[in-house]
Amino acid sequence: MSKFSRVRTVLCDLDGVVWLAHQPIAGSVDAVVRMRASGHRVLFVTNNSASTIADQEQALQQIGIPASGDVVSSSMAAARLLQRGERVLVTGGPGIVEAVERQGAIAVRNTGAEISGPVDAVVVGLHRDFDYPRLAVAATAVRAGARLIGTNGDATYPTADGPAPGGGAILAAVEAASGVTPQIAGKPHKSMAMLISEILSAADQPFDPNSVLMVGDRPETDGLFAAELQCEFVLVRSGVVAPGEVVDSEVAVADDLPDLAALASALAEVD
Ligand SMILES: [Mg+2]
Repeated sequence: MSKFSRVRTVLCDLDGVVWLAHQPIAGSVDAVVRMRASGHRVLFVTNNSASTIADQEQALQQIGIPASGDVVSSSMAAARLLQRGERVLVTGGPGIVEAVERQGAIAVRNTGAEISGPVDAVVVGLHRDFDYPRLAVAATAVRAGARLIGTNGDATYPTADGPAPGGGAILAAVEAASGVTPQIAGKPHKSMAMLISEILSAADQPFDPNSVLMVGDRPETDGLFAAELQCEFVLVRSGVVAPGEVVDSEVAVADDLPDLAALASALAEVD
């Protein structure tokens, strides 16, 4: 486990690691506190595109984790794929609208009503009011030439009551109806990796994957994202992978975030 001794930044998934539907997983809050206390920077890297950054920071604050400036979402990764001034049809939640506008593009909300004028891109993410009219408007815009961008491809996300349909399920509907393969921005894809490397590099210090550890509950999302970043990965069995479940022996596994934090603290003290 000494391969983690150079880790300075922990990229921490939220759903299934810190919380399940905003209910903290036992010990996770204390684990984040301990990792920070041992000198690690903790960034929360989430494929949740529906909520605004302020809402996600506030939800973390409410369970006892100050997170101002520390949340990186798949909406932010999607916005990197847009140009200033582009008209963007948002088939998703407020988090996408926020990221589109911060990028200097124009957010056109998909309400299911016919839109006036062409759009340059359609960005699709999880929203619970998705319906047939919104599907038709999104697919029509893509067929008319708009780029199709998905915030993430996750078909489900974990809740205390089991898996719930995710943004990837909605994206799949738009893909099927438009006949166009989307570009996907969030974990494990390149745009999120580029965003993280931008955040973690400074003018005098290029991004160093050896100083970064990704922690997540989903091998096909968080594990592949670590591979994209070329950083180490630890799988926690507190989300989509059940406690005690046997996983690929090549993957480092912790029971949960507290289990990992104990390791991180120990390593920091050695340094
Ligand atoms: Mg997760």
